[in-house]
Amino acid sequence: MDNCVFCMIVAGDIPSMRVYEDEDCIATLDIGPANPGHTLIIPKKHVKDLTELDEALAGKLLMAAKKIGMRQMERLGADGFNIVQNNGEAAGQSVLHFHIHVIPRFKDDGAVGLWKPGNPSKDELSEIADKLS
Ligand code: ZN
Repeated sequence: MDNCVFCMIVAGDIPSMRVYEDEDCIATLDIGPANPGHTLIIPKKHVKDLTELDEALAGKLLMAAKKIGMRQMERLGADGFNIVQNNGEAAGQSVLHFHIHVIPRFKDDGAVGLWKPGNPSKDELSEIADKLS
């Protein structure tokens, strides 16, 4: 897609630190990492977000994320890793080409804080559960 920075990275028109590639995706280091080794899994095909992703490609991308996360543990000494995937600008998606963040985590690093837990009443939970069911 024209003017999509991730399509340009996939095509090699913008340089990136590629750490993995297969027929469906690339994995490249995030230039604004939460921790050293923070990697993005990017499908070669332009897909806006999860709502446009088909099941087969989703499975392949998740397996690529698993592979990178395991490398972060084995080769960087990470104690674990986060999979973060944002959909829509309100959710923090800054590039509108689907991608999965794989963030290596080290004990007590405080690198990622996704939410502050709320404390809804049972009625509030029930009302929302009805809407989502
Ligand atoms: Zn794109």
